[in-house]
This record gives sequence, structure tokens and C-alpha cells, in this order.
Amino acid sequence: MPYPTQPTASHFVNGAYVEDTAGAEIPVIYPATGEQIALVHEATPAIIEHALNSAKAAQKAWAALSGTERGRILRRAAEMIRERNHDLSVLETYDTGKPMSETLYVDATSGADALEYFGGLAGSLTGEHIQLGDDWVYTRREALGVCIGIGAWNYPTQIACWKGAPALACGNAMVFKPSETTPLCALKVAEILHEAGLPAGLYNVIQGTGAVGAPLVSDPRVDKVSLTGSVPTGRKVYAAAAAGIKNVTMELGGKSPLIIFDDASLEDAVGGAILANFYSSGQVCSNGTRVFVQKGIKEAFLARLHERLSEAVIGDPMDEATNFGPMVSENQMKIVQSYIEKGKADGARLVCGGARLEREGYYLEPTVFADVKDDMIIAREEIFGPVMAVLDFDAEDDAIARANATEFGLSAGVFTSDLTRGHRVIAQLQAGSCFINSYNDAPVEAPFGGSKQSGVGRENSKAAIEHYSQMKSVYVRMGAVDAPF
Ligand code: NDP
Repeated sequence: MPYPTQPTASHFVNGAYVEDTAGAEIPVIYPATGEQIALVHEATPAIIEHALNSAKAAQKAWAALSGTERGRILRRAAEMIRERNHDLSVLETYDTGKPMSETLYVDATSGADALEYFGGLAGSLTGEHIQLGDDWVYTRREALGVCIGIGAWNYPTQIACWKGAPALACGNAMVFKPSETTPLCALKVAEILHEAGLPAGLYNVIQGTGAVGAPLVSDPRVDKVSLTGSVPTGRKVYAAAAAGIKNVTMELGGKSPLIIFDDASLEDAVGGAILANFYSSGQVCSNGTRVFVQKGIKEAFLARLHERLSEAVIGDPMDEATNFGPMVSENQMKIVQSYIEKGKADGARLVCGGARLEREGYYLEPTVFADVKDDMIIAREEIFGPVMAVLDFDAEDDAIARANATEFGLSAGVFTSDLTRGHRVIAQLQAGSCFINSYNDAPVEAPFGGSKQSGVGRENSKAAIEHYSQMKSVYVRMGAVDAPF
């Protein structure tokens, strides 16, 4: 890879890069060309042991520091990430294929936001005092212990930071397993955290497939598991964590509705629908892939959408003029192609796209289906690619009922110029992360996560603190103990 500061080994454990070539080889493929750009090895049982032991050994002393001391290190790491944003963005682009026009602005930078935000909160994590006559109770907010983070491949730097920052702020240690598809970025996060002063053992990254993730989840040294992944993986990981009564955060998939009313600004609604379906080539969990468009605006919406999609600059992700890149892998491209075929077979109207590009790499065209019916597969299953399904509706109540008729509940959006309607509709949509006249904004200050089968718990915001710490309550008696015998 023509990249000077790539990670120097497969794993980062106990404050240093480590290698164990006995682990199975995981080739790292650049999705824009299909070329192998790096090779990492799956963690062997010895590496897993090393990571869990290091985390366990380091955690107590870390939790014993003041929150301000912990936070200072996280904020220093945030600054270093910002200073190195360009190189980290290049690495993110190699790992995922996402264009530099995205990675420069939303990947390392949002990771830095999380480290800065939770670094800032760390000093004010407190319990409370509850007076009970002369007696009193106080609560202590304590760390959980060793946390496991397991990541998806679409936002490898961001996921590594969104899980690591609140975990470390609360005094925990973390062992993070990236997706085997995108193993590189989390290693740089670990390297920078330790360069910023994080003591060895507190943020470890080990590589591998689900076969490495599974023993981490069930290990008795582990107190909490945070997964970003699909619903089927979530079911398995949640069940394994439940066997050990472990805390969990589950950030899972979605098939989110975006409802566009006749009175919406056409240009904003089209822009919102583009952001909700084609950013990162559609590989975003919260995407609004079921676009319900009120009949009066439908044809104008489709025409303008088609026009704007034809302006997408599809090409070399390293060229900052490119704003639409390849799918993350050949496998993901094939999954999406099979959904496009199902859409056609079920009778949806292909408005634009639908084909693989005639060039190297795993490029698909931005694809829009209209006249989609609720029971079609492309309207029910998460595709995780650049495929928008447009559905018609007449009445508000009908749109709400159909939007909610899904097992998922990650996100939802509404476009309307009637703000009363906007709030009324969003209040009835069963989803965790919602938008009015916008889509897919994810500032660190806002809770992020799903309801129904899309997840458990919340990332980001003060809400994440609840998921990376526990309360101890201490009753203090000031007088004599009055026992019955
Ligand atoms: P997967 O569910 O396939 O994998 C997620 C992670 O879990 C990977 O690191 C995977 O390893 C690992 N894993 C798989 N099986 C197990 C197991 N039994 N025990 C422990 N770990 C396991 O998801 P993808 O990587 O394909 O990512 C896409 C999915 O992620 C989509 O459904 C998307 O919606 C969701 N997602 C959710 C987000 C949210 O915040 N709600 C954000 C981003 C994505 P490996 O793949 O290396 O084998």
C-alpha cells in the first residue's frame, strides 16, 4: 500500500503492536481496485489470552484515577487524531473504499468528537447523596470492568472510538475486534490512544472473524459487550452475553422509513433522500431505505431525484472530487446485486441504476425502485447498499402504520413544511434515532441507537455513560443497629 503510516502488525495488545503468524491469514482488499493492500493474521488463542489478561490487569488502576486525569488522555488523543486526519482518512478509504470526500469529514473526525466529548464528561461522572433522616445513602458510579467492542465494516474508525471513548471515560478497559473486512483503522486508534498517554492494556485491538468474537463474548473476565452489526449476529451475541448475565449495547441493522409529504420542499426532500440512501454507497445502518412519498409530489420527486443522481461523481475514491465509491467488498456487492434482481422480479419499477460499473473494483450504480409494495423483499429486508425503495401513500395515518410495520426500529425521518405534523408523525414512529427535515445527522451529543430489533442501549451522549458504568449504593447508618433478636 502506498501509505507510510499503516499499522505495523495485526494486533495491538498491552500498549504495543504484536504479531502471531500462526493465525489464519486475512487479506485486506482495497475495494476500488480489488487489490490486496495488506495482510493481517487472525488472533490465535494466545493473542486472545494476552489481550484479555492485559485488559483485566490494567483496568483497576485506570478506574482509580480521577475522571479528569482519564479525560485529559482522551482529549489529547482527540487532538492527535485531528492533526493526523488526512493520513487516517487515507487509511479509512483503503479499508472501506469510501471516498476521501467523506472520510476527510466524518470518520476520524467523528472519532475525535467522541474522545473529546467523553474526555470532557469524565471529570463530572458522579454519584448522588440521598439523605434519610440522620442516615444517608450515597451512590458511586463505578466502571464495569473489561468491555468487548465488536465492529461492523462500514465505519471502522468511528465505531472503534464510539465504543472506546465512553468505555475508557468510565474507567473500563476494552478489547476491540474490528470486522475482518476492515481491520486496519482500529489499530491506528489504539496506537494514538497509547501515544496520548493511555496506560498499556486499556485499549487492545485483535483481529478475526466471528470465531474470535464469540470466545471474547463468553469469557468470564468480560463484563460488557458492545456490538455493531446485523440483527442475526446481534441475536447470537446477545444470547451468548446473556448466558453470563453481561451488560450489552447492541447497535444493529435497520430498514428505516423516510416519509415525504406533499408540502415538503422538493429540493430538501430529494437531498434528504439522497443522504438517507447513497452516502457511503448506501452502507449505513440508519439509512431511510423505505421512502414513502405522498402521491401529489411523487412524480416530481422521482424526476428531480433521477436528475440529481445523474450528477453523482463515481470514481477513484482518492480523488476528492469523487462523491460515490465502491461497495466494501465483492461479497457485499453480490448481496446487493441479488436484491436488485429480487426488486425487478417482484415487479418494482427501476427508475435508475441497477447495474455494476464497467471498471475494476466493486462499484454499483445508485439505484432507485418506484412503485414498491410493502410486501416486496426490497421493502422488508436490509440491503445495505445503494438501493432506494420508493413507496406511495395518500393519508398520514396510513404512512405511519406502514412505516411501523417492520421488525426494525433504528431510524425514521419526516419531510414536511408543517412543523406540527412533523412532530406529530415523528412521535408515532417506532425508532430510536429520528429526523425532521433532515437525515442521518449523528452528532456525539445526541443519543444514537435503535428500538425493536434494531438494538439495545444507546451510544454517544450522556446516555452512553449509563451503559458503560454501574451504580453502587451505600447505606450509612449513623445510629445504633436495631436488630429483632
Ligand atoms: P455482521 O453482523 O456480519 O458482523 C458484525 C461483527 O460481528 C463483525 O465484526 C463480525 O465478525 C462479528 N461477529 C459475527 N459473528 C459473531 C459471533 N458469533 N460472535 C461475535 N462476533 C461475531 O455485520 P457486518 O459487519 O456485515 O455489518 C453490517 C451490519 O451492521 C448491518 O446490518 C448494519 O445495519 C449494521 N450496523 C449497525 C450500526 C448501528 O449503529 N446500529 C452501524 C453500522 C452497521 P466478521 O464479520 O469479521 O466475521
